Amino acid sequence: MVGRGTRLAPGQENCLVLDFAGNVRRHGPIDLVRPKRPGEGGGGEAPTKVCPECDSIIALSATECPDCGYVFPAREVKIAPTAATLPVLSPKVQWLLVHGVSYSRHDKPGGLPSLKVTYSCGLKSYSEWVCFEHQGYARQKATEWWRKRAPGCPCR
Ligand SMILES: [Zn+2]
Repeated sequence: MVGRGTRLAPGQENCLVLDFAGNVRRHGPIDLVRPKRPGEGGGGEAPTKVCPECDSIIALSATECPDCGYVFPAREVKIAPTAATLPVLSPKVQWLLVHGVSYSRHDKPGGLPSLKVTYSCGLKSYSEWVCFEHQGYARQKATEWWRKRAPGCPCR
């Protein structure tokens, strides 16, 4: 659910996440959640539970025992009266020493050119694409990028 709120959008600076169901405590910070891929985990066995009336092993999701008709009490939704105070994002910001920066024109077939900026950090490198030729949000981000690096110089 936080995916919509954390999506980058023009004019959106913040996202307020109120966790009344203990999801961060259960699953961890949202940037570290790793959903299972298809075919991963569980060993292929469906989760089950035991009927307290007839000891049949039935599907965990069953609300009624198919063998004896026992009706399981409605699952209580655990909603806390106050939101959790745990950090929603992990404190994993990593600072790297940049040994070199290179700039090149990046042409995309059928698209507008952009400036590819590559930061060399030891054996690894990281790139970003600055879209001066674009419009809207991409152009706005490019202008901000330029202003931070060349204060006072107009961005054309
Ligand atoms: Zn039963």
